[in-house]
Amino acid sequence: MSVREVLVFPNPALRQKAECVTEFDDKLRRLVFDMWETMYISKGVGLAAPQIGVPLRVIVIDWEGSKRLLVNPELLESSGEIRDEEGCLSFPGIFEDVTRPERIRVAYQDENGERAEEAVEGFFARVFLHEMDHLDAKLLIDRVSAVKRAFLKKKLERKAK
Ligand SMILES: [Zn+2]
Repeated sequence: MSVREVLVFPNPALRQKAECVTEFDDKLRRLVFDMWETMYISKGVGLAAPQIGVPLRVIVIDWEGSKRLLVNPELLESSGEIRDEEGCLSFPGIFEDVTRPERIRVAYQDENGERAEEAVEGFFARVFLHEMDHLDAKLLIDRVSAVKRAFLKKKLERKAK
């Protein structure tokens, strides 16, 4: 059990699409445990497995005490639109306004493969959607305007050198 390194943009592993979890075994449970530890120590409200270099569809969320483990999450429905500020552990110090659906319905599995369905809204829904983006290799920087994206990209790539 250990805290893992959170990968920072432009690390290419963040651009790898994650695969579905098919084995609900001890290896998955160890990954989930490490993800909780890593998220808490990094003071994040959510963490997706690709952010620690593991290309699997696994997410942990703790937003104001509401904790969720999402394995193989799927977006079933979404409605409304809301703009709010968003950050990401893979973009330290960057906070950008992003427009996202206000209400969503999602299906997911737990570490034993049990399926659940849930409707969430507001900022909690935003956290779900942000983390689900990571599974499809979509990042915060892809959700901002083209001008902003070019500016951030330059700035972050320069910082990484
Ligand atoms: Zn993120």
